[in-house]
Amino acid sequence: SAYVFHFGGGATNSDPRSRDKTITGGKGANLAEMAGIGLPVPPGFTISTEVCTAYNAAGKSFDEGLRAGVAGGVAHIEKATGRIFGDPANPLLVSVRSGARVSMPGMMDTVLNLGLNDATVEGLAAGSGDARFAWDSYRRFIQMYSDVVLGLDHHRFEDALEIAKEDNGFFADVEMGAEHWQALVGQYKAIVSDELGRPFPQDVHEQLWGAIGAVFDSWESDRAKVYRRLNSIPHDWGTAVNVQAMVFGNMGETSATGVAFTRDPATGERAYYGEYLVNAQGEDVVAGIRTPQYLTKAARERAGAKPLSMEEAMPEAYAELARVFDLLEAHYKDMQDIEFTVERGHLWMLQTRSGKRTAKAALRMAVEMANEGLIDEATAVKRVDPMALDQLLHPTLDPSAARDVLTRGLPASPGAATGIVVFDADSAEHRAQMGDDVILVRVETSPEDIHGMHAAKGVLTARGGMTSHAAVVARGMGRPCVSGASGLSIDMATRTARMGTREVKEGDVITLDGSNGDVMLGAVPMVEPELVGDFAVLMDWADKHRRMKVRANAETPLDCQVARQFGAEGVGLCRTEHMFFDAGRISLVRQMILAEDEATRRRALDALLPEQRADFTAIFEVMAGLPVTIRLLDPPLHEFLPHGETEFEELSEATGLGVDHLKRRAGELHEFNPMLGHRGCRLGITFPEIYEMQARAIFEAACDVAEKSGEAVVPEVMIPLVATRRELLILRALVDRAAEAVFAEKGRTLEYLVGTMIELPRAALMAGEIAEEAKFFSFGTNDLTQTTLGVSRDDAARFLGPYVEQGIYPRDPFVSLDIEGVGQLVEMAAVRGRETRPDIKLGICGEHGGDPASIAFCEKVGLDYVSASPYRVPIARLAAAQAAL
Ligand code: ADP
Ligand code: MG
Ligand code: MG
Repeated sequence: SAYVFHFGGGATNSDPRSRDKTITGGKGANLAEMAGIGLPVPPGFTISTEVCTAYNAAGKSFDEGLRAGVAGGVAHIEKATGRIFGDPANPLLVSVRSGARVSMPGMMDTVLNLGLNDATVEGLAAGSGDARFAWDSYRRFIQMYSDVVLGLDHHRFEDALEIAKEDNGFFADVEMGAEHWQALVGQYKAIVSDELGRPFPQDVHEQLWGAIGAVFDSWESDRAKVYRRLNSIPHDWGTAVNVQAMVFGNMGETSATGVAFTRDPATGERAYYGEYLVNAQGEDVVAGIRTPQYLTKAARERAGAKPLSMEEAMPEAYAELARVFDLLEAHYKDMQDIEFTVERGHLWMLQTRSGKRTAKAALRMAVEMANEGLIDEATAVKRVDPMALDQLLHPTLDPSAARDVLTRGLPASPGAATGIVVFDADSAEHRAQMGDDVILVRVETSPEDIHGMHAAKGVLTARGGMTSHAAVVARGMGRPCVSGASGLSIDMATRTARMGTREVKEGDVITLDGSNGDVMLGAVPMVEPELVGDFAVLMDWADKHRRMKVRANAETPLDCQVARQFGAEGVGLCRTEHMFFDAGRISLVRQMILAEDEATRRRALDALLPEQRADFTAIFEVMAGLPVTIRLLDPPLHEFLPHGETEFEELSEATGLGVDHLKRRAGELHEFNPMLGHRGCRLGITFPEIYEMQARAIFEAACDVAEKSGEAVVPEVMIPLVATRRELLILRALVDRAAEAVFAEKGRTLEYLVGTMIELPRAALMAGEIAEEAKFFSFGTNDLTQTTLGVSRDDAARFLGPYVEQGIYPRDPFVSLDIEGVGQLVEMAAVRGRETRPDIKLGICGEHGGDPASIAFCEKVGLDYVSASPYRVPIARLAAAQAAL
């Protein structure tokens, strides 16, 4: 069938679709790829993602073609293994594994040991000569299948196991023998009958189809949906299903299972890295039931741990694994995250993928791999997710600060976080919404905790290793995480925790150091990041490959300094209204707004002029030699009006006008829809003296700084909310007059530009005409999105979530540009603007200027620069380079 692809066991994989992630999913494609390069992969087959999409579209039903495809796939595995599915004498067992295009750790379901029933378990015992192993596999299967396919709560099974151990006086699962597992299987089956009113399915084909359906259904599970929303994964991708012959890590002391990375995913160091468990199956490692052991001797010694590493305990299988690591890195030319199983000394590969890594590790690996010659510079630039840089651009713990260490755990995800302790995901989300920084503290995390982890600044767990759910997810989200802190115990009843010898209550402040595993009491001081080493090297390479300039949205000298330090090549948006809100000035601003005649207004403006000039002077000093785009006053007037009695009284004192009079005047300025009201250039048209004052302040400041430092900025005066050419013509003339007047007074001239924001659909449509008056366009995509979609960004939070969930917009259009819609306007305006004025300068200054997907679009339509908030400048530099490559 066209929907089923075989791998391993001599399958040829001649169809390239079998190795295409969009068809067979990441797991399936890589299984086929590994089998293709001769690595030991248990044979199996993959049902393509298209089937999932069709299944869900058809109201959860399978088509006939698929039945034939699956039968053919099972026959392939039977032939390759010499075992028969459902045969009591020589049974084939399989795993049924989900696998989307991108990895969604722990989000979707997998069933192991499928094909066991009361008859085949005997065959498995006889064939392997190990009854304990057979019954252990059967009890695992019943529990997993019941959980994943039958929807039964796993707690009843876990409780039964705990009681069985207690009754026998055992502490650990490994003490359970064949007869104990067999007895437990009896109890498990009773639990299923009791819960379900029918027996556990004995028909292996029913089991198989149940599991296939459950994997498809898991794509639609709530936790998978949340994960997709947080990670911008489209809902229509679907998941593939992999059905694969089981290999057994639970066949005694010469068997094991593990996960490994070809380089350290936390630091990027070139050293094998991982964990394994003897006599166990895959899920044991991730679930944190037993504490896994180190892979390498070096890592074990560094941690001072006793249980032997795999390198020491199973030298031959380890040597084979190391050989596979090197082969895989050379083949994929990237760090690989691997799942493997050793069955009676023989190594089997169960998964490989490019491993998730911290930003720090991503940088180090990209730079080192380029230096090793494994990849070229351009590939290195493409390797690092620009958004991940965010982790590095924020403060870290001050190395000289005192630390009151409560307890220690594993450094599972680097970075530092301070916040109040909360013990469950919902509280984390709730407190974060109220504005608290929270640290989520759990025994261990599971996929149900995702929303809480996302809301938290950091995650602390008592159990679980470096590859536990908490660790993997936290690294992916860029949240600092300390896992496996054995000195931590939580009492949910009193909502307190013991950390080391002390008690910590919910709401107490702690600090995590995800880079060394320290858990500290209180807030530990932080320091600004140093942008050196691998970061500097990679940014250098990025700058070599990028075409667009990167500017910053900044309106204070401090922001400008940060921006320059981060490599900004100018200011793309300096919003002047922020200067008006300043405490010392707001009274003057109010007097100006409430003035009833021009003379009063001018008096207030005259008093504001030196203040504005000082603002611009400070900014121009920092930005000397670079362009600075200043947007003249934009917000609706009412935003500046007094609120509440005291403010009116203060204003009355300052103006000598009665409170009632002022209130009436304020009432007159009321607007029903201020975002579409008296704002932007409409202010400049109706109160030209405001823009005159601002233009004068700009040119005076520019002349002063040029005079003092010899190096001027190039002011780019930007008129907001223009819809027609004539608005711009009038206001450009006003700015030009102010420039001429100032230049005449100062006895010098300066280069400057007058341009406009394109933030209304009409402006985009009329861009050809407007360009006659504009030397530059800056796309104000916040307002342009608002006005094109007819969606108020201040009110959108309530409905945009469901909109994105239902795929109406692929992402929040205020975060990532609506390329299909708003993008058309941007493109059209760029083309029309250039037709009129070929050298017109084009940039973007909306929030989108810091969003990699939007930046890629800006490159495509040939904008000259993007402008982003200062901390996003490095992200934009890297994203711009990637867009150009
Ligand atoms: P996830 O996507 O959650 O990692 P997987 O499908 O990779 O789920 O399965 C989880 C674990 O189950 C694997 O890491 C592996 O250890 C084990 N597993 C899956 N398939 C097999 C198999 N055919 N034989 C042995 N173990 C398996
Ligand atoms: Mg896996
Ligand atoms: Mg705007």
